[in-house]
Amino acid sequence: MARYTGPVCKLCRREGEKLFLKGARCFSPKCSFERRSYGPGQHGRSAMFRRNRQSDFARQLRAKQKARRVYGVLERQFRRYYETALQRRGLTGDNLLQILESRLDNVVYRLGFAASRAEARQLVTHGHFNVNGRRTDVPSMLLSPGDVVEVREGSRKRKYFKELPSLAEQRSAPAWLMRDVNALSGSVLRLPERAEIDGNLNEQLIVEYYSR
Ligand code: SF4
Repeated sequence: MARYTGPVCKLCRREGEKLFLKGARCFSPKCSFERRSYGPGQHGRSAMFRRNRQSDFARQLRAKQKARRVYGVLERQFRRYYETALQRRGLTGDNLLQILESRLDNVVYRLGFAASRAEARQLVTHGHFNVNGRRTDVPSMLLSPGDVVEVREGSRKRKYFKELPSLAEQRSAPAWLMRDVNALSGSVLRLPERAEIDGNLNEQLIVEYYSR
């Protein structure tokens, strides 16, 4: 259950775009990318100018790194997802994105129960959720159609969850999930279509990266 613990805003600056990894802060003037929209480090500014001249490999690598960072997944786990996607029927790139979307931390985030995937991950690891009636603290758990996620009874009296229904109302949930904001629960109706997965991700380049 390892995770990236370094500076988060640096990842957006490295990818040259906002990845929205920090919830509300990303929409405020405090966003680091708004103030310094060039790469991190001594050569950050000049590296941004070299982006237009990237090799195929560099573009594939950047596409893969960006997806990893958006979903908060480390390299070994990400490669495992790719191998699973390869074995499934259909387009490998679409399968890969579906696997990433079906992670428990992502589903909690998509349901509007957390402001970011990082926050969702923390809520899950602290054991605030049941999946199909059983407590789970594994953010990488992959959900399937029919699975039900709900805030545990013992966690509902916490301040965060008392205020959550009004916060969640302001966040939209995708059509492949069904949620009951007042009951603090949700379920997976089906896996998402490619068009329903937002984020400026290029799965084709990721597949090319791993099939070199
Ligand atoms: Fe990225 Fe959010 Fe940090 Fe802005 S505040 S740089 S969008 S993580």
